Amino acid sequence: MKSFDDELRGELESLRAQRLERFLRPIDSPQGPRIRSCGRAFLNFSSNDYLGLANDERLKEAALRAIQEYGAGSGASRLISGSLRSHHDLEEALAAFKGTEAALSFSSGYATAVGAIGALAQKEDVVVIDKLAHACVVDGARLCGARLRVFPHNDVDQLEAVLKWADTRRGQAAATRRRRTLIVTESVFSMDGDLAALREIVELKERFGAWLMLDEAHATGIFGPNRRGLAEAFDLTDRVEIQMGTLGKALGAAGGFIAGSRALVDLLINRARSFIFSTAPSPVMAAAAKAAVELVASEEGAERQMELWARVDQLKNGLVNAGWRLPVVRAPIVPLMAGSEETALTWADQLRAAGVFAPAIRYPAVGRGQARIRLTVTAAHRADQIASLLQALGLCARQPEALPDRA
Ligand SMILES: *Cc1c(COP(=O)(O)O)cnc(C)c1O
Repeated sequence: MKSFDDELRGELESLRAQRLERFLRPIDSPQGPRIRSCGRAFLNFSSNDYLGLANDERLKEAALRAIQEYGAGSGASRLISGSLRSHHDLEEALAAFKGTEAALSFSSGYATAVGAIGALAQKEDVVVIDKLAHACVVDGARLCGARLRVFPHNDVDQLEAVLKWADTRRGQAAATRRRRTLIVTESVFSMDGDLAALREIVELKERFGAWLMLDEAHATGIFGPNRRGLAEAFDLTDRVEIQMGTLGKALGAAGGFIAGSRALVDLLINRARSFIFSTAPSPVMAAAAKAAVELVASEEGAERQMELWARVDQLKNGLVNAGWRLPVVRAPIVPLMAGSEETALTWADQLRAAGVFAPAIRYPAVGRGQARIRLTVTAAHRADQIASLLQALGLCARQPEALPDRA
């Protein structure tokens, strides 16, 4: 076994040399604005728990009730050992929340994307994705075997060119069924905190008869008058065929889902391999997520949404005043561009020394040389905690090697 380990160590050494090595930092507390790690307290600006629900009493109580009623495990795939009521309850709540005919839950957002893309596109089809799409979209698009085309981030002219190409391809050769074109994009981009050009994309996909799958991982629960996501905020919900979301971010639990028509959900039950060939998520997770969906849809959800935007505005205004260049849109993901991996790691270390937990994001989560600190704000943060973060960032920026990219 020695040569096996030596070979792997060599690979790790190469990652370390490029400043791309990662390791896990144990956390000894629930998620929240304050966390404990290795005996120290930190202000947490790293979590996607945007509405502060991950440690909410009502989610925990729902989880406890589910464990009493259904136990800890789900036994098998839902098509094998029967489909627990807790999952149906969650899916009914999701469909009501999203205003769709139906919804289907998966064990993660990652599994949702891979399963749904594979169910909808095959070898003879074309999948078109934004350059900055999440890894699960890239993997799903590669795995399904369709022709993959990537357009530069939010470049709708390039998207149009790709759709034109796919359209001419469609007419060629005798196909057993209509060749499909599936566009997949995030609504709020996970590492950049900017928004998809959704109106233009929807118009293009309609003009070319393509389908749109919208990954609302970072928008579900926080955008739109009913917090359904960015499609709702842009009044485009009825024009997006496949709406995807996660249960693990603003919804505070874990898992993923697709919301859409009954036909879409029925097809996924029959064709999505990550759904079919995987043990159903624990009933505990389904119950916690259902409690979260109901909470987000309620008046309290609206209040938390407002608190979140107040904190986001506070942080972004503070940063802009301090000379940082930020995406102009309003989103709780705030990237502080460092450029080199080295600089991002130095900033993260300095923040940690100042008691702030915020990760250095590096390749392959972002491009090489595009390293950054990714700050995330939640409704649970208090104004004084944002002020402490701004103060800590001021300390970092004062280091000569850590000067931000000033406009
Ligand atoms: C986090 C994320 C996912 C994956 O969701 P998980 O539930 O964490 O597996 C999918 N898409 C985007 C854009 C994400 O940020």
